[in-house]
Amino acid sequence: MEQGTEDVPVIYLHEIKRQYMQGDAPLVILDGVKLALWAGQSVALVAPSGSGKSTLLHIAGLLESPNEGEVYVAGAPTSQLSDMERTQIRRTEIGFVYQSHRLLPEFSALENVMLPQMIRGLKRSETIKRSTEILSYLGLSDRVKHRPAELSGGEQQRVALARAVANAPRALLADEPTGNLDPNTADHVFQALMQLVKATRVAMLIATHNMDLAGRMDRRVSLVDGKVVELE
Ligand code: ADP
Ligand code: MG
Repeated sequence: MEQGTEDVPVIYLHEIKRQYMQGDAPLVILDGVKLALWAGQSVALVAPSGSGKSTLLHIAGLLESPNEGEVYVAGAPTSQLSDMERTQIRRTEIGFVYQSHRLLPEFSALENVMLPQMIRGLKRSETIKRSTEILSYLGLSDRVKHRPAELSGGEQQRVALARAVANAPRALLADEPTGNLDPNTADHVFQALMQLVKATRVAMLIATHNMDLAGRMDRRVSLVDGKVVELE
């Protein structure tokens, strides 16, 4: 397992429990999840539909709170933080990629990547420079002025990746990021993801159904009866 020199996980899920009420009965989705995500390591989360992958990613990304358990980011517990403090951590430490790109249709690729940096308070000139660099790193130098509708599916997803890493997060969480793409394009986007892990030492968790892609990542886990189990 590649853990680098950092001895604290970027994200650590401790005894996470998440249930939804279905009528009067609780529907337990996560039942004591333990998972450590390390800098520079890519982890595939491979589990059937409905098993709780998205729920786990949302909790790890501080988008949703667990009923029980604790989410540690860089060693610090997050459950007692205010909404504003959680939002702040999400903006600076965590990048999220979804199955559909969720780019803003009225804005260019460049502007979509600039936005999270502007929200964080970086100078406009600085955000243009950084965004241009990230987009060209992902092979999109001649697409910066394009709006999402003028891009292919693979290009849209690579812009979404660029946006997710624009603030140099410590963790990148991706929820079936290649699920809408044909195999060739999926491979291209996947290579971009792996390139980012190596270049930035981000901790990466990718929910995927694609066993071929999962096999090329550093580590594979699944969800069984609401718990994380290591595969192989
Ligand atoms: P996956 O991403 O693995 O397909 P999800 O995490 O989306 O699984 O969902 C796990 C289970 O939790 C599903 O059975 C789903 O119907 C249920 N679920 C998810 N979100 C909610 C919610 N907000 N309210 C009630 N049930 C939910
Ligand atoms: Mg899902």
